[in-house]
Amino acid sequence: MTEIKGKKGHPKGLYLLFVTEMWERFSYYGMRALFILYITKALLYDKGFASQIYGSYIGLVYLTPLLGGYIADRYWGNRRSIFWGGITMAIGQFLMFFSASYYQNIEFSKLMMFLGLAALILGNGLFKPNISTMVGQLYEPHDRRKDSAFTIFYMGINVGASIAPLWCGFVGDTGNIGDFKWGFLSAAIGMILGIIFFEIFKNKYLCTPEGEQIGLVPVRETPSKNDKAGGSNSIPVSGTSFYKKIIFSILGFIVLFLLFTVNYSGLSDPSITLFEGADWIGAAIFSVGIVMPIFILTENSLTKIEKSRILVIYIISFFVIFFWAAFEQAGASLTFFADEQTDRHILGWEMPASAFQSFNAIFVVSLAPVFAALWSWLGKKGKEPTSPVKQSIGLLLLAVGYLVIAFGVKGVQPGVKVSMLWLTSLYLLHTMGELCLSPIGLSIVNKLSPARFASLLMGVWFLANAAANKLAGTLSGLYPEAGKPKYLLGFEIANLYDFFMVFVVMAGIASLILFLLSGKLDKMMHGVR
Ligand code: GLN
Repeated sequence: MTEIKGKKGHPKGLYLLFVTEMWERFSYYGMRALFILYITKALLYDKGFASQIYGSYIGLVYLTPLLGGYIADRYWGNRRSIFWGGITMAIGQFLMFFSASYYQNIEFSKLMMFLGLAALILGNGLFKPNISTMVGQLYEPHDRRKDSAFTIFYMGINVGASIAPLWCGFVGDTGNIGDFKWGFLSAAIGMILGIIFFEIFKNKYLCTPEGEQIGLVPVRETPSKNDKAGGSNSIPVSGTSFYKKIIFSILGFIVLFLLFTVNYSGLSDPSITLFEGADWIGAAIFSVGIVMPIFILTENSLTKIEKSRILVIYIISFFVIFFWAAFEQAGASLTFFADEQTDRHILGWEMPASAFQSFNAIFVVSLAPVFAALWSWLGKKGKEPTSPVKQSIGLLLLAVGYLVIAFGVKGVQPGVKVSMLWLTSLYLLHTMGELCLSPIGLSIVNKLSPARFASLLMGVWFLANAAANKLAGTLSGLYPEAGKPKYLLGFEIANLYDFFMVFVVMAGIASLILFLLSGKLDKMMHGVR
């Protein structure tokens, strides 16, 4: 296995993808910062229903990358998928703009909003896995610079994510309901700028080290029985076994979907309907999350080594669910904590609780270059940890972040406010964990995927986010509230200390198991590091 050493710097294409993704994330996070405020204040949804719409949106946004990955690997290639994904998202943002422009005509406005969300969900599915895959294609398959390249790319994500809520909040969240539209328009313009930039420079900069253009429409060919070396460039989609697999997968999906949605009390109690309280979106995410990985792994053209590497992607993606489920408390329980139990005064000014949500993106932008340099430096000394070890460190840092805050709040009575240094330390530690786990995850998925499944498997990686976001919501519901006893696996969550310790234990155990498995995973990667 060749390892590319001694190459300095990064290809220019990385910076093109950096800027394109920066604008796309500006658009995504800008809209997201305003969305719940808009639908509660202008469209007058109550908080509960608004949270459900928001949760479903965030879940579906990470489900569609599977579809976008498949379309790219099979039909369109990454470039075309990114282009149409970007256009669809821009249309989605414009629909949000129309919705907010005519909010007085509430029925029309709601219709525009739902069409807008649908466009954003589809567009993101086409865009997100494909731009991430292209980062890896700029390098030789086993180039050690990939981890630092994905870390730089991740910085682009967070430059967009840190500026967007500030700008879109500034123009859209002014206290005047009629101004939300300016925030959505900014998000639409940001997306268009990203596409323009991508289209202008893609032919010049998006190529392999040998100068071959990347992300083009895949070559269609059905591999022969003898072609076991994985040499085919596209996903085979013919033969009876393929169609049989499709039928089995659909049946499997239906069975799982029903198992996840049926309200079992309804079987014995006729006053309860069978689907009462069903979480359709959660059920779809979990069912696809089981069926799709099996569907890919049973693909005939995969060699033993390819299967073993794909299995590593699945195992890592599984552990990552626990990371994001704890990490994504940021938008939920940790925001309640910032609001109710954190003293946010700085020199007489009280910082809004929501401002804590920008800490993470700002820390990522500041620390990403440090981590990129760290991996390069350790790589040169031959001491760079393997990806599963880095991810286990990421989970450990997440656990430490919660441990710090758990001790910070130990014995603190409800209503008493603690220093904001606790929450700040937590976000700093969580960001360090994220930098060990998330960009490294994108990188390892890219390195382990056979080229013809690269974007689809990136979709599987993002599917872990979809499942984690659902779990995050459930866990956030354990946040202690006076007079409402809460239990997890028979243990009472009596106070904030108990609540934060849930995440210490969850992330700590996941980190330990992943660490213990890392040697085995390393072998299963067959030379990929
Ligand atoms: N913040 C990163 C992004 O927007 C990672 C999000 C995630 O994977 N949950 O891409």
